[in-house]
Amino acid sequence: MPMIGEVSAPVAVLKVTSPDDIANYKGKIKGAVVLVSKPAEIPTNEADNAYDAVIPPARGVGRPQGGFAERQRIMRALAQEQPAAVLLDSGKADNLFNMSSASRYQPSDVPMAYVSHEDYSLIYRLAEAGPVAMKINLAGTFSPGPVPASITVAEIRGSQFPDERVIIGGHLDSWDLGQGALDNGTGSMAVLEAARALKVLGWKPKRTITFILFTGEEQGGIGADIFMKNHAAEIPKMDAALVHDTGTGKVFSIALEELYETAPLMAEIYEPLREVFELQPLSTRYFGSSDHVAFLRAGVPAYFCIQKPAHYREAHHSQTDTFDKVIPEEINEGAALLAAWAWNVSEMPVALAHHQPAAPRRAGE
Ligand SMILES: [Zn+2]
Repeated sequence: MPMIGEVSAPVAVLKVTSPDDIANYKGKIKGAVVLVSKPAEIPTNEADNAYDAVIPPARGVGRPQGGFAERQRIMRALAQEQPAAVLLDSGKADNLFNMSSASRYQPSDVPMAYVSHEDYSLIYRLAEAGPVAMKINLAGTFSPGPVPASITVAEIRGSQFPDERVIIGGHLDSWDLGQGALDNGTGSMAVLEAARALKVLGWKPKRTITFILFTGEEQGGIGADIFMKNHAAEIPKMDAALVHDTGTGKVFSIALEELYETAPLMAEIYEPLREVFELQPLSTRYFGSSDHVAFLRAGVPAYFCIQKPAHYREAHHSQTDTFDKVIPEEINEGAALLAAWAWNVSEMPVALAHHQPAAPRRAGE
């Protein structure tokens, strides 16, 4: 699908908090360059963990509201009004750009582009003060696609229960403004280093320990979804999964992901690690938005590493997600934690309990 080429158009600032609000602009924004939100507020106080730094909690405990699916509904409603393009605020300081995916990496219904936070704020202020016209030129193209991509899987076979699997993972794909060092080169390297460490120790785990470098995470978890489809027969005997996907900072907890029925056994697995790795108690927050969600949806106990921010919010998805941001000591420690957690799960007398699977994901979710 071609992009739009050069277009001169009036700028329209919309006040939209739900898909229904688009009805207020019926017939009024055809051919316009549209801004659908106020300029982002760039936090000056760091959140205490990398995930909250990127996706702030809605109100303390619970799942964030207005997530990916809601934004997609707004964009679909907006597309009916046929604006020329939608501009998004990069939400980052220092003129950095951002990248994300609409419609699981399908062409969006309306051309969309990030502009830097500074430029977005300027356009917004000018448009609030009076009429603004813009000339934009989106020169991007789509390759014919689809193209093949690989998921990397390795395992150390279990000695007693080889069909049961403990899984640790990160994702090898990244956005291409930077190098993807923090999102998610560091998680991928932690998984590789955990595999290397367990291999050289020569220990024989009771259950199989599986190491996975996913792909397609940034496009909406499509790699993990395909992995679960291809390995559907193994799902009943997947014991647990743990994903490392918020950059280079120290792992200081593991999120229980509301799997409270697994808490007693998880405590047996986790408590011995606390002194060694200076860990806080298990986290009771829900952290979605990474490859472990595909496991959760399939009923497999799946958990997420909670990490210190370590400039994750600033760097991820931007030009500055580069190798110089990596803190070797912290990512090496994270690798050791993944290895130790996987080992402890593999040695438990019983497996972690599965839960009721969720309904299959609908298109666009
Ligand atoms: Zn990631």
